[in-house]
Amino acid sequence: MELNQRQEKIIEIVKSSGPITGEKIAEQLSLTRATLRPDLAILTMAGYLEARPRVGYFYSGKSSSQVLTEQLKNHIVKDYQSHPVVLKSDVTVYEAICSIFIEDVGTLFIVNAENDLVGVVSRKDLLRASMAGQDIHNMPVNIIMTRMPNIVLLNEADSILYAAKQMISKEIDSIPIVKTKESGHYEVTGRVSKTTITKLFVSLFDQ
Ligand code: ADP
Repeated sequence: MELNQRQEKIIEIVKSSGPITGEKIAEQLSLTRATLRPDLAILTMAGYLEARPRVGYFYSGKSSSQVLTEQLKNHIVKDYQSHPVVLKSDVTVYEAICSIFIEDVGTLFIVNAENDLVGVVSRKDLLRASMAGQDIHNMPVNIIMTRMPNIVLLNEADSILYAAKQMISKEIDSIPIVKTKESGHYEVTGRVSKTTITKLFVSLFDQ
């Protein structure tokens, strides 16, 4: 989050004179308390300042990157998920390639007849199968997919930061969001991709 000049000044005042009341900050800036109220609310919500009733504002001591990390921890995948593209495991590699183009995604999630998640297929999985000179019109996608239990999963309440860390450490572009069924198998309800993370990253600076 980028701070404006007045917000920077408020932080300086609180740093040097805190704890300090909103009244006193306003005095030092020759402004009214009412004019200052939105800035104080923003700085408090963003975590730069802390407010104590009857004491006033004091500096939290957090750097911008600490504040950003805390903001990111509060963003959960449920609020940013996109629509998952799900195919049955008996579709052919050719059909899977068509879906990648039609649906404009990089990763497909594969389910069995009960709609349980059984696999993941990426662009490169499909390219590899095509380059090997196999009959992609007759080869089912379940031969080339990455299977359970090797699939990296997310729950709706997981943080975006956790999702991003999983993508980096497991070297994958997309993760399915799942709900556990009574049977113990997983139903795919959403998807988080590197695009999701990029969009959130940009939105943090676009406020
Ligand atoms: P690409 O292979 O097109 O670069 P990825 O980096 O996402 O795309 O995929 C790398 C490999 O990891 C592929 O073999 C793919 O099947 C597998 N993969 C992709 N997503 C997941 C996931 N969520 N969990 C486990 N494996 C995955």
